[in-house]
Amino acid sequence: MWDAIVVGSGIGGLAAAAALAKRSKRVLLLEQHTVPGGQTQTFRRQGWVFATGVHYVSGVGPQEGPEGQFRRLLEWLGDGSLRFAPCVNPYDIVHLPGFEFGIPHPEAAYRAALHGRFPGEGAAIDDWFHACHEARKAGMALMASHDLPAWIAWGFRLLRGRQADRWSRHTLADQLADIADPRLHAVLGARWADYGAPPTTAPFIEHALVTGAYDGGAYYPVGGPARFAESLLPTVRAAGGECRLGAEVRQILVENERAVGVEVVEGGSRAIERAEHVISDIGLANTLARLDALVAPAWREQASRLAPGLGYVALYIGFEGDISGAGATSANHWIYDSEDIDRVWRQPADEDAPGLFISFPSLKDPAWKGSPTAEVLAVVDRAAFATWLDEPQLSNDYAAFKDWVTQRLLGQFNRHFPTLAPMVRFYEAATPLTQRRFVRAVGGSMYGVEMSVERQSSDALRLRTPVPGLLLAGQDVTGPGVQAAFMGGLMAAATVEPALWRQLGR
Ligand SMILES: Cc1cc2nc3c(=O)[nH]c(=O)nc-3n(C[C@H](O)[C@H](O)[C@H](O)COP(=O)(O)OP(=O)(O)OC[C@H]3O[C@@H](n4cnc5c(N)ncnc54)[C@H](O)[C@@H]3O)c2cc1C
Repeated sequence: MWDAIVVGSGIGGLAAAAALAKRSKRVLLLEQHTVPGGQTQTFRRQGWVFATGVHYVSGVGPQEGPEGQFRRLLEWLGDGSLRFAPCVNPYDIVHLPGFEFGIPHPEAAYRAALHGRFPGEGAAIDDWFHACHEARKAGMALMASHDLPAWIAWGFRLLRGRQADRWSRHTLADQLADIADPRLHAVLGARWADYGAPPTTAPFIEHALVTGAYDGGAYYPVGGPARFAESLLPTVRAAGGECRLGAEVRQILVENERAVGVEVVEGGSRAIERAEHVISDIGLANTLARLDALVAPAWREQASRLAPGLGYVALYIGFEGDISGAGATSANHWIYDSEDIDRVWRQPADEDAPGLFISFPSLKDPAWKGSPTAEVLAVVDRAAFATWLDEPQLSNDYAAFKDWVTQRLLGQFNRHFPTLAPMVRFYEAATPLTQRRFVRAVGGSMYGVEMSVERQSSDALRLRTPVPGLLLAGQDVTGPGVQAAFMGGLMAAATVEPALWRQLGR
């Protein structure tokens, strides 16, 4: 009998397990993959190491306030050895045809840079930042009403309820409609792949929260993103807990209407593990799929209105030579083929990706041990891969399709970085099928449930589920991003162990 079972070792699951361990709870952490960390895992090909779901991290700056909160919480939960290196500033560079704009932090610098570049748009720029501030406050209230203890949620509602109602149905496109200059419009909206929904779908609140989180700086974990699991798992073990890899949870057991444990398959053998609490970090749809079909029908009905989000294709590139000398830096590049930043890549076989995110992780990590790398990402409509998403075996026609798309992305990379093209020695792509296989993302989605205004007010995504003893953690509850998913895990642990709420004020 464990104090808690955590299903899934993504950053949300790791945070929940480590936080409970800090309260001397014995936690069993179950991960279906052979590598811990979920989307913070890394993988190696020959001399090149690639990260999957971390390109930059917010909240880990040296500051005392919210800009450093994630770092302080990690220091408390981990072995204290997890360090972060700042990315170059400007850290995000937006490229449009014939135009480039570097986004710096903090906000005052970003604002000044916009004023300098768009001198005729001063009022629109100031209104934009004012709206971002208001939306962020509303976002906190919205989150509180979903996730925090009832008395705190009540306080937030009293203070900010009207604001939350006003902003909760507002999309990024609604806010961008006030921006007349097409280039300013594109710069302000460009970074939507950070939360996975284009302006017409994205809640403005989410945009304000995610982009605002980098006001405190953009950082990369020293030693790579695998360091998250390496630093948090010893805490779980020190309290008598365990992390089992290759352990797939097939069923969440419910007895007398309460979650009491899981059925897990490890190395072909089935076992039952029991606990007082089950915390699921595997996303809403995966969690429901592991409950008996008759459990919580109203919850299922609410969840059925939420679709999986968009997918992505990634191209992992390995180089030989000095890529900094050839112009690469630790900044991220957001490259659009037109000022129409709303377009999603719908026909990857027949068209180039309309938007690319390109980063050079080997230049972000001062402790990098391998050869230099780049990671190229393009958000894609999962429908393009629908034929193969549910097939148990990878087919030859999928391999041919993937190869075609790989060459297309490589061609785009080479055109944008011609000085790096001759240094390319290795490349390999990931598609929504890869995402489904390694982290079991439903439909191969990039960030779980689709990011939309419906999602933000859905009752299906609460920490405390309608099944007593079963909690949700991770990105589906608190939003995409390492920091947000971590907070989702920590808050799930605090729901089980209320003394932990105090730690959130660190
Ligand atoms: C391409 C990409 C780039 C990104 N870039 C950034 C970035 O630069 N900065 C940032 O902050 N965020 C980024 N993110 C987002 C961030 O990585 C995620 O939001 C976050 O890591 C999600 O954590 P999680 O714990 O919620 O879930 P996950 O990391 O998805 O973990 C879920 C875990 O559950 C396991 N699992 C699933 N089913 C079972 C089962 N039945 N039994 C046992 N285990 C199971 C999975 O294998 C997985 O390990 C990126 C994401 C992607 C995909």
